[in-house]
Amino acid sequence: MSLRFNAINGLSSNSTVKVDGSAKITGIFNSNVFTLQTAREVLSEEAYKSLRSSLKAGHKIDRAVANQIANGIRAWAEAKGVTHFTHWFQPLTGTTAEKHDSFFTLKGDGTPIEQFEGDALVQQEPDASSFPSGGLRATFEARGYTAWDPSSPPFIMEIGQGKTLCIPTIFVSYTGDSLDYKAPLLKALDALNKAAVDVCNYFDKNVTRVTATLGWEQEYFVIDEAMYNARPDLVMTGRTVYGHSSAKNQQLEDHYFGSIPERIYTYMRDFETEAYKLGIPLRTRHNEVAPAQFECAPIFEEVSVAVDHNSLLMDVMDRVARRHNLRVLLHEKPFAGINGSGKHNNWSMATDTGVNLLAPGKTPKTNLMFLTFFVNTIKAVHDYADVLRASIASAPNDHRLGANEAPPAIISVFIGQYLSKVLQDVKERVSDKMDETDESMLKIDIHKSIPELLMDNTDRNRTSPFAFTGNKFEFRAVGSTANCANPMTVLNTIMADTLKQFKKEVDALIEKGEKKEIAIMHVIRQYIVASEKVLFEGDGYSEAWAKEAEKRGLPNVKTTPLALDAMLTDKAKKLFESNHIYSHNELEARHEIELEKYIKKVQIESRIMGELATSHILPTAIRYQNLLINNIRGLKESGIPESGFANQKQILEKISEHINKTADLVEKMIEARKVCNNMDNTRTKAIAYQSQVKDAFFDQIRYHVDKLELLVDDREWYLPKYREMLFLR
Ligand code: ADP
Ligand code: MG
Repeated sequence: MSLRFNAINGLSSNSTVKVDGSAKITGIFNSNVFTLQTAREVLSEEAYKSLRSSLKAGHKIDRAVANQIANGIRAWAEAKGVTHFTHWFQPLTGTTAEKHDSFFTLKGDGTPIEQFEGDALVQQEPDASSFPSGGLRATFEARGYTAWDPSSPPFIMEIGQGKTLCIPTIFVSYTGDSLDYKAPLLKALDALNKAAVDVCNYFDKNVTRVTATLGWEQEYFVIDEAMYNARPDLVMTGRTVYGHSSAKNQQLEDHYFGSIPERIYTYMRDFETEAYKLGIPLRTRHNEVAPAQFECAPIFEEVSVAVDHNSLLMDVMDRVARRHNLRVLLHEKPFAGINGSGKHNNWSMATDTGVNLLAPGKTPKTNLMFLTFFVNTIKAVHDYADVLRASIASAPNDHRLGANEAPPAIISVFIGQYLSKVLQDVKERVSDKMDETDESMLKIDIHKSIPELLMDNTDRNRTSPFAFTGNKFEFRAVGSTANCANPMTVLNTIMADTLKQFKKEVDALIEKGEKKEIAIMHVIRQYIVASEKVLFEGDGYSEAWAKEAEKRGLPNVKTTPLALDAMLTDKAKKLFESNHIYSHNELEARHEIELEKYIKKVQIESRIMGELATSHILPTAIRYQNLLINNIRGLKESGIPESGFANQKQILEKISEHINKTADLVEKMIEARKVCNNMDNTRTKAIAYQSQVKDAFFDQIRYHVDKLELLVDDREWYLPKYREMLFLR
């Protein structure tokens, strides 16, 4: 029996795994995290204070107490049954990496002991040669090192019976170049902190720290594991490269917010429990638009912690799914013809005085502060739309952006009617010669009760890639598999840069003798005028918007290789260098890595398409073709006239045509790949893979294969069909 029918037969026996969900969330939350509170309990006063102050200041921990801290962490972990530790980091492959070492060691005289020294906590040297470096490290210089980022607490990962202490680290080369997603993110957050504090101090001298906040919404699909295993394309690429749409998919919209199927519900409760222990504050869960699609979202946190938590959760979701004989598909587009998955990044900034800088305030002063940060965000997105677009570019996300169900590749900002009106008023009523009376009028105008109005969910536009949703912006174009660090690095850097510029301009006006508030209003007005073309309130999915955006001169780059060009413009180099995020070298290396990732992904997809066609689809189709031939021959021999088997002949002709076309196109695709593989320049090669392999063949081959799926005897078809993967569980 084929894997497909095994999978279908096995479904009913895959009864739900038992999950003990009786624990109160508050009872297990953070139980596997070395929080400051835990530190207080297990560390000496000296070590605790030192750790706390490093945390507050974002510094490395003091070597002098590192041993004490390490011992405290080991004692805590061992009490929980941990035997190994690892530095946990986020290399540019997009997954997380770990290399486990045991606490166990032998002393000089051979006595076995358990130990975890300060050095092992603070710094490690994993063999880095097989992580992408974009040429930053010559191959003979394989060493990079991981260093603990104390802003992220150590945690215990439970895998089956094994428990591992994970130390969240950054990953850098010996020359100090970043080799991961985390190091540049921390730099960007630092740049934002400095720039935002400076601007906040116009309004409130008490602000000494600004942190960016992130709440991601993770979309995903879940399917039965046996079905998954019967689909080599899912196993190899995370998406189905073939598969005819089922008669029913999402058109009835009966899945969205519907009741969650029990098997999935149990799975959710299980991974949520794991997440709570790891301190991931999951809050919501629901069905998504497509069948078998779901979403979860946490309470927002500081960006660096939120980024870690998302990477960690993707890992946990994957592991826990296997316990339930399920597979979670995090890919942006696992199934053609139905919605793909994104990861909305809700983003804002908060002061250490407790103010959300993107929440409209209640007094004129706080409202002017809100307006300042609000308009600066719009200006940042306007000025660096291309860099922001590049930050979310990936082979899988190309299936979403610009397709009909996800935000377009055009970056625009939605702010809602009310704030559009406010900006319009500022633009029209603030003049260069604004005097004191204008000033008071303006203050009153932007002071109206904005919050209630904005928090209303109805004032939302789901087609915008970057939307204001009452007290935060929501960057919706991020892909579901993405590490949020990359878009967050860019967003916080462009914000820092824009705020720095803003301060310079305001200060210049103040120096000329303008009153502070008036100077601020002037620059705000200037920014509104300069960036209003990025504002768009209409249907972002419409053809009309693409045309309008072109008229406005907004970039609309639909493919990754070209979108990535924005990383290397003079503008981008200056942006990242002047804010100390990336040197030119680092930027070029990253660009190279992203292109290589793109090439490899398309190459793997192309190979699996060829392989499946040749070894799965064509043999099946040819067997059925023979059956028809025999049938027709038999009928003919029995003296039945042609008209008596005209239908069989017609089917035979169709099948033969699709067989021929498939075989022919696969052959040509392989030739095209060979041409690409001989190209030296990575960018040229990536563009060639996109246009000469992917665009030239993927849809065409799929068309013929999907037709064959409809024509060939269902019993003979090996690959689980869409209706089975999406509706059976
Ligand atoms: P949606 O209606 O878009 O599905 P959800 O309520 O599911 O919205 O998700 C909103 C996300 O935004 C949550 O993760 C929430 O914690 C986050 N969020 C709320 N306020 C902020 C903020 N100030 N900064 C960052 N994220 C925030
Ligand atoms: Mg959302």
